[in-house]
Amino acid sequence: MRNIGIMAHIDAGKTTTTERILFYTGKSHRIGEVDDGEAIMDWMEQEQERGITIQSAATTTYWNKYQINIIDTPGHVDFTAEVERSLRVLDGAIAIFDAVRGVEPQTETVWRQASRYNVPCVGYVNKMDRIGADFYFVLEDVKNKLKINTVALQLPIGKESSFQGVIDLIEMKEIHWDKEGVMSTRIISPEREAEARNWREKLIDALSGVSDIVTEKYLAGEELDADLIRAELRKAVIKRELLPMFTGSSKRNMGVQPLIDAIVHYLPAPDEAVIAIGHHVKKEEDIQIPCDQKGQPIGLVFKIQNDREAGSLCYVRMYSGVFSSGSSVYNVGKKKRERVNRILRMHSNKSDPMDSLAAGDIGVIIGMKLAQTGDTISSEGWPVLLERMQFPEPVISISIEPKTISDQDKLKDILAILSKEDPTFSIRENEETGQLIISGMGELHLDVLVTRILKDYKLSAKVGNPQVTYRESINKANERSEFFTKTIAGKENAAGITLRVEPAQRGSGNKYICAVKAGTGRNEIPAEIFEAIERGVNGALASGIMMGYPCIDITATVIDIQYSELTGTGFAFEACASMAFDEACRTANPILLEPIMAVDLVCPHEFVGEVMSLVTQRGGQILSMNSKADIDEIKTQAPMEKMFGFMTSLRSVSQGRATFNMEFSHFEKKSER
Ligand code: GDP
Ligand code: MG
Repeated sequence: MRNIGIMAHIDAGKTTTTERILFYTGKSHRIGEVDDGEAIMDWMEQEQERGITIQSAATTTYWNKYQINIIDTPGHVDFTAEVERSLRVLDGAIAIFDAVRGVEPQTETVWRQASRYNVPCVGYVNKMDRIGADFYFVLEDVKNKLKINTVALQLPIGKESSFQGVIDLIEMKEIHWDKEGVMSTRIISPEREAEARNWREKLIDALSGVSDIVTEKYLAGEELDADLIRAELRKAVIKRELLPMFTGSSKRNMGVQPLIDAIVHYLPAPDEAVIAIGHHVKKEEDIQIPCDQKGQPIGLVFKIQNDREAGSLCYVRMYSGVFSSGSSVYNVGKKKRERVNRILRMHSNKSDPMDSLAAGDIGVIIGMKLAQTGDTISSEGWPVLLERMQFPEPVISISIEPKTISDQDKLKDILAILSKEDPTFSIRENEETGQLIISGMGELHLDVLVTRILKDYKLSAKVGNPQVTYRESINKANERSEFFTKTIAGKENAAGITLRVEPAQRGSGNKYICAVKAGTGRNEIPAEIFEAIERGVNGALASGIMMGYPCIDITATVIDIQYSELTGTGFAFEACASMAFDEACRTANPILLEPIMAVDLVCPHEFVGEVMSLVTQRGGQILSMNSKADIDEIKTQAPMEKMFGFMTSLRSVSQGRATFNMEFSHFEKKSER
């Protein structure tokens, strides 16, 4: 079994190559073309329109006796959370390069992420049929930019329109393809022999740098057989010491079968991959989780998709043990048991039921209602949390308002479904206007959500412009006593509260404290009154002080409660608590905080000047610069409000060659940066 992903810069041919892999492994009966908008992996309507792959879908296929689970990884910067999520559950990857362009900005970004997770890779130089295609340039470019020792396992025969096949440097033979992609092998033609020998030497040379067995045999002048070379290469790839390079033209059906062989030959099986680490919640210790079917069952929900008929499809990667359909599992983070009604193996356009899902495998569980992306499922007797994925703070928001009032509830339902699939956005209601506000990570992120609401769910709605989601807080401590009274239907509702508010350290969050103990005070105060007060304060924290943005870093302490059995009601205390909080904060030097983003740029030397002045113009501060062979890495911080449309400006000042990653850093008092 192999769990693999395919990573590439947009347009390098990830979708086309995946399609061909599915075709040759026999799971799809005709070849889908990206350009016809028919590709099987890009099944979401929206992705087809944009021509980019946004959501990762997992699909299973078979090659000889191997099961290959392909996890689709998105390539766009706004979806780093998605990329990291898929990188966590795959054991190996194919890195695709465009034969003309070589290493492109997003290849570098994804490569860095893959390095962080120690994902072993094989490289594939696609588009050898394009004008300007140069396999040897890409070999060098990858070596220089990605800092990994590339080793060619194939050489292209011809290039551009005369590209006809490859030389296999391990078997030492030629592979040719006809128009339908049917493969045939031949002996190496005499005029290419010297070149082939030369490159085989380089291959053996690189391999002997990492393998003692190869070095010994080589020095002893012994012939190295193909199986030994592959076995030694496999070890080096799994340790990320070498990047074996393959080539072809997926669109012309050339080069794909040997690439599938490479998945099997060089990428690790689940029990050879990096061992997962979990945290035992009861024992409070970290443990290793070897891939073992007989071990305790544990899996990670890495993706949720909503299906109109089946409900939540929870994609699960099993790390150990087995879950069976019809059983129950334990959601460790939510401390709740859930049903496994059915288990499915997903192919790109259909699914097969399974009795169970075992260690190392990936499948879909149906029946879990509470599970969210990132949740760990195991058992009550062995509550272990897999390292949680970190999701950053939503910093931009957009208002959305259905065209008809009757659609308001439908919109809320849709948002509830979407937020299960994607835990990185949040929803709140503007109390004054009744508008729903959704907040997310970046412009494209919100754009995609809105398009899904409007197109996939066919809801007509008015959508506002993206806005920064500010926060509110206070700068000094303050105390306030409030009394509330209101007569409803002849009955008096009264409450009295003294509340103290204090600023807490930045980043420490809000805190609610009740210093009045139950059973004290003028009368016995019932529990529901305490609950009502807490609700009132929390509601006020969420709805802000002066501007209606959520409050952060405020400690609110209830100091005194004036309660009478005759008139004290929960309604009165909730309202009173909210008033006391608002009044106390309003005179406690309220401040507006803005999200500051960490913006990391990678840019070729010749554009450093333009890129830096672009960042400074937008109120950014340069924190550090690191100069590499052909690029500079610049770390900066900039206020979110000045970063709208940054991607477009950056592209235009750098001819599309600078790239950036933007993540939330912290909140800071809003200033005129
Ligand atoms: P992705 O964005 O990485 O998924 O790339 P796609 O698979 O969508 O391909 C992007 C474009 O490149 C499409 O127009 C493809 O038809 C084209 N393409 C893909 N593979 C090849 C190839 O081998 N040769 C040529 N000339 N074009 C290709
Ligand atoms: Mg694609």
